[in-house]
Order: sequence, then structure tokens, then C-alpha cells
Amino acid sequence: MTDSRPWAAPFVGGAWLDSGLPSVERENPARSDSVVGSWLAADEATVERAVGAADDAGPAWRRRPALERGRVLVRAAELLESRVETLAELLTLEEGKTLAESRIEVVRSAETLRYHGLQAWQPAGEVFHGSTADEIVRTHRVPVGVVGVITPWNFPLNIPVWKIAPALVHGCTVVWKPASYAVLIAAEMVRALLEAGLPAGVLQFVPGSGARGQQIVEDPRVAAVTFTGSEGVGRRIASLAAARGAKAQLELGGHNPAVVFPDADLDLTVPALVTSIASGSGQKCTAARRVLVHDDVRDALLERLVPALADLRVGDGLVDGVQVGPLVSRSARGEVETAVSSALAEGAELLAGGPGERVPDGGWFVRPTLLASDKPTIGIACDEVFGPVSVVLPFSSADEGFRLANDTRYGLSAAIFTGSERLARRAADELDAGLVNVNQSTTGSELHVPFGGMKASSAPGPKEQGSAARDFFTETKAVYSTATY
Ligand code: NAP
Ligand code: MG
Repeated sequence: MTDSRPWAAPFVGGAWLDSGLPSVERENPARSDSVVGSWLAADEATVERAVGAADDAGPAWRRRPALERGRVLVRAAELLESRVETLAELLTLEEGKTLAESRIEVVRSAETLRYHGLQAWQPAGEVFHGSTADEIVRTHRVPVGVVGVITPWNFPLNIPVWKIAPALVHGCTVVWKPASYAVLIAAEMVRALLEAGLPAGVLQFVPGSGARGQQIVEDPRVAAVTFTGSEGVGRRIASLAAARGAKAQLELGGHNPAVVFPDADLDLTVPALVTSIASGSGQKCTAARRVLVHDDVRDALLERLVPALADLRVGDGLVDGVQVGPLVSRSARGEVETAVSSALAEGAELLAGGPGERVPDGGWFVRPTLLASDKPTIGIACDEVFGPVSVVLPFSSADEGFRLANDTRYGLSAAIFTGSERLARRAADELDAGLVNVNQSTTGSELHVPFGGMKASSAPGPKEQGSAARDFFTETKAVYSTATY
């Protein structure tokens, strides 16, 4: 390290590799002329060594008592909790979300570490009667082996930790490739785990390009890959993993609907929609991309939703009172602007935000943007645009509302706003989504509850988070034993 700016590098076999690798600078997305810090990128040989180190460390780590592995995670949770302010500031500087959002992410990451650490105290399996008096049968879990963890930048602490924590407590060793836009904050998770006593070789950290991620997926020593990110990369990972019989867990994009019925309580619906559309600058896989509004409530809803979005304060997430930070990069902002222009060219009406709106200088800012259309087939109503942009579409009956909500290849999150218990139950039954929210934002989930999507948002197999997380990182054996006296 040559100065006091945040710094990171590959961490392999218990050591930070600090020479001979190319250095990458990260700009602050809110002030693009200012550099937050720099990191060294892993090359092919680094990833090769990293997988080897994880493989070598596996036998000793899985022989440690689960309770001991869990204690490391609980200690790491305490370390994160003692550093909330410093980590939140770095997260905002590097990724752009507001300081308030960053604090929540740091605290949530600590809680996730603790939750999975304490899973070691849970029952380890089931016991069954045997077919003779002397036989018993029990289930016994063993770690799947070396796990590849490939993560996005939008929750650069929390998504990795909800994968890495269960992998570690259940006895796996890990090779983690973080997203290139958020390496510096990710490295802080590695530091906390080390200080908490994680032995050398149990966790490798290999920041680098997508090609390094693919190298992990193709390495025959990697037994399982857990990935969160874009649909295209995820599908490729799934097919490469399947081709060599490795497990793959995918959490991909979404095109999440929020369905508003005439009996919705607007005092609650409007703020929930604002959160659904604009929190995290809309860079959430669970953000509401379509607001389906019953004809009878359209005017009353828009009269309140449009000014609520227009009033949001956009700017540097470190500044007090700012509610919407920048997008992660110049290209991310470009993609959002292009998608909004295409929607306007396809005849959509602009209700809030959009091209003419002033944003602060110097960063990758986009004002929360609300469009309206009566054509559910326009591009923006079908394809995920990763920013604070949503389109209002009309419906006139419950059947049509549910049909439109499901008229997407994705199935991550959905929300319904209604006072009707019958419609709420119907939503739980009929909406194609792994997360169904009744009178709540499409965003947000609890760390002790299974998380994951349906259709193109995910892949078949165990969900993430909660006690369901164990199923991906372990194999279950049935052990039949007969007592001899
Ligand atoms: P991304 O481009 O797919 O990147 C995700 C990770 O994959 C990054 O670490 C990336 O590295 C790496 N990668 C890129 N190409 C690869 C390859 N060929 N093989 C292996 N790894 C590769 O996604 P993103 O832009 O970071 O995140 C946005 C997307 O994630 C959105 O589609 C969003 O919906 C989705 N997402 C889903 C969830 C969910 O839970 N369902 C949650 C959050 C985000 P680099 O950073 O170096 O490119
Ligand atoms: Mg990407």
C-alpha cells in the first residue's frame, strides 16, 4: 500500500498478493473526477492458485467442529458492527448508494454473518426408525467442497455474505470473485473474517475481470458455483457448470410488477411505490419496473405518486438529505438514458424525470423517471433497465391485472396493493414470483427467510438465505446403522 486510500488485492492462501499484478482505480460515481482507491486484479495464475489453496484447506476446515466455524462468523459480525460508520462511508464512496442505505447494508451483513454462524447450533439432521429393532437411519450432511462465489456490485457486502457465511459454516472453502465496481468494500469483509480467526486458505478473494469468474466456474476442483448477477452471464455459468456436473445456484434479473387496485390505501401505497422504484437508485433486482394501475384509481394514484418521485433529492449519497445516489457508472447511466429515449420513441408518456430534468454535475445521476403507456409490449415494459425507471400500465379487471403481472419471463418479486384479503390470497397463489409483497414495496427481504425467484430470475434448486441456504452448500447422506452388542 503506497498511500492511505482504500486498497485491495487478491487474497490467496492466507496472504494478500501485493506485487506483479495490474492496478485498477475506482472512481467515485458521485464525483467522477475523484478516485476512491485502487486494487490489484487477479490474473489467470492467481485464480489457479486460489482454487488450489481452497482445495488444500478443505479437509482441515470440514473437520473443525461446526460450532467453532460458526464462532468465527459471529466474531466477524461483531467486527462489522464496530465499524458501521467507516464501512458505510466506503460503500457509499465506491458504489454510490446513500449513507443511510449503506448503513443498513453493513448492519444487515453483520446480522447475516451472525445468523449463519448460529445455524451451527441447529439440529444437524433427522433420525428415522430402521426396519429391524437394532437399526437406525439418520441423515448426515457433508460440505459440497470448494465453492465459487461470483457477486454483483449493487449489494457488494450483503449478497456475498449471504453466500459465503452459509458456505463456511457448513464446512466449504471458498473462492470469491467480487464485482469490479465494488472491490474495495468487498475486501473489508475478507479483513473482518481474517481478524475473526478464519484460517488461511478457507476464503480466497480474487478481484478481476469476468474472465476470472469464468475460470472459477470451469475449474474441475470447484464443486459448486453460486452466482448473482445478470441473466446472460448467469445462463452461461449454468451451462458451463452443468457440462462438468457441478452445482450452480443463480439469482438473476427481474421485471417486477406492482399491482394497484382501487381499494388500495394510498397513504401506504405511494411511499411503498417510491421505495420500489427509486431506492438504491433503482439498481435492485427487486425494483418495481412496472406499476400496473386499475383504471378506477389511476388519477388518484398518479396525482400523488408523480410529485412524490419528483420531490426526491438526487445527489452525492454522503450529503445529508440526499435520497437517491448516482448510478454505478457512466455506462450504466447511458443504458438508462437510451432505454428512456426508446420508450419515448415508442410512444410512452413522460410523467416524471426524463431527459430534460436537471441533475447535479459531476456524477452519474439520473432523476427517478416514471413513464406511462397502454402498450405492455414496449421495450421498457419487458426488458430490465437497471435504474430508477418504471412504467405505468393500465388494467380494468382483476383477471387482467394478474395476467399482465405474470406477462414477463422473469419471476423475482411482485407487489399487490389492495384492502381485499381475497385478492391478497390470490396474489400469493397466482403471481409468478419468489417474493410476493402485499401492501409493501417489491424491494426488501428478511435474512432468515428463503430468498429466490421463479422462471428466468433463477435456476432450479435450493433457495438462498434462511435455513434453506444449507441445502446448496451440503450433500445429504443417509446413514444406515445396525447396533452390535
Ligand atoms: P453481471 O455483469 O452479471 O456481473 C455479476 C458478476 O459476474 C460480476 O462479478 C462480474 O464481474 C462477473 N462476470 C462477468 N462476466 C462473467 C463471466 N463471463 N463469467 C463469470 N463471471 C462473470 O451483473 P451486474 O452488472 O454486476 O449486476 C446487475 C445484474 O444483477 C442485474 O441484472 C440484476 O438484476 C442482477 N441482480 C440480481 C439479484 C438477485 O438476487 N436476483 C440481486 C442483485 C442483482 P465484473 O464485475 O468484473 O464484470
Ligand atoms: Mg455487468
